[in-house]
Amino acid sequence: MAIYGGIDLGGTKIQAAVVDEADNHQVLGHKRDQTPLKGGPKAIAARMAEVLKEALEEAGLKTSDLAGVGVGSPGSVDDSKGTVSGAMNLSEWAGSFNLRKALEKDLGAPVSLGNDVDLATDAEFEIGAAKQFQTLLGVFWGTGVGGGLVLQGKPWVGRGTAGEIGHMVVRVDGAQCGCGRRGCMEAYAGRGAMEARARRRVEQKEKTVLFEIMEERGRDRLSSGIWERALARDDQMAIELLEDAVEALGNGIASAVNLLDPEAVVIGGGLGIRLGEPWVERIRQAMHPHLFMDEHPPAVLLAELGDLGGAHGGALLASRRARAE
Ligand SMILES: [Zn+2]
Repeated sequence: MAIYGGIDLGGTKIQAAVVDEADNHQVLGHKRDQTPLKGGPKAIAARMAEVLKEALEEAGLKTSDLAGVGVGSPGSVDDSKGTVSGAMNLSEWAGSFNLRKALEKDLGAPVSLGNDVDLATDAEFEIGAAKQFQTLLGVFWGTGVGGGLVLQGKPWVGRGTAGEIGHMVVRVDGAQCGCGRRGCMEAYAGRGAMEARARRRVEQKEKTVLFEIMEERGRDRLSSGIWERALARDDQMAIELLEDAVEALGNGIASAVNLLDPEAVVIGGGLGIRLGEPWVERIRQAMHPHLFMDEHPPAVLLAELGDLGGAHGGALLASRRARAE
C-alpha cells in the first residue's frame, strides 16, 4: 500500500484526502471543515490534523498507515525549514510558524509543504484535466485569483513567486486591489473584491438577493454557492458583477497566453468549479478578442479534480518525496 495524505489549507476551509497513490490515485476518504478564525497557527494546525484523521477514519485507516503527508498552504512556504510565513488571510499568521513540526508531532508521518496553487496546478497537470499536455497555465478563481505554471513538463516558479496572474493589470488606473495596487484582474474577478463591490452598491440603495441568501444560509460572506444561487434567481447585480469578473479574466488570461503560448489553460478555484463549464465557455469567449493568435487558441478546460485538486497535489508531493528518499 502507498497511502498518502493531502491537506489543502485555505482561508475559508481545510480540505483533506487520503489517497492510494499505487492504485491510480484513488481517494479512499476525504473531509472538509472551516478554517479556524481564532487561535492562530497552532489552532489551524491542530484542526488540519483532525480533518485528516477524520478522512482516515472514513477510509477505515489510521495515522500509522500513512507513508507521508503533503500540505498545500497559502503564504510564503519554505519546505526546507518546514515553515509558513505571511499567510495574511489566516488567523494571526503574519509571522513565521513551523507547520511541519506541528503536523508531524500530531500525525507521526513525514510532512512535505508546498504552495497551495502550485500543488493544485501540479495535480491537474499530472492526473487531472491537463494530463495529456506538457505546458499548462492553471487559473484558480476563488477569493483571489491564483495562477500556476507548468512549462515543458516542469513547474515554473520563477524566483519563487511566478504565476501571480491575479495581479496582471487589466485596467490602467482601475479598481483598487487587495494588494494595494490598481487595476489588477483580482480587483474585478476575486470573490473578495466582488463582495466588496456588491456591498458598496447596496449602500447606494441598489437591490440584490445576494445578502438575503447569505443570511438564509447562515453565512458571513458571499461564498461561491451564494453567487450560484443568486444567478439561479436572475439577480441583476450578481449577473453584472460576474460578467465584469469574466471580462477581467478574459483580458488577463489572454495576455498571459499571448506571452507563454501554453497548450492548455485549466480553470479551477471555488467559483470556477461551482459555476462550471457554462462559465468556462464565457471565459473562452472573453479571452478571444485579446488573443494574438486567435485562430489557434489553447484548450481552456474546467479543473477535473474539483475541490480535491489541492489535496491530490499534496498527496502527489508526499509520494514523490518518499520515492526520492
Ligand atoms: Zn493586485
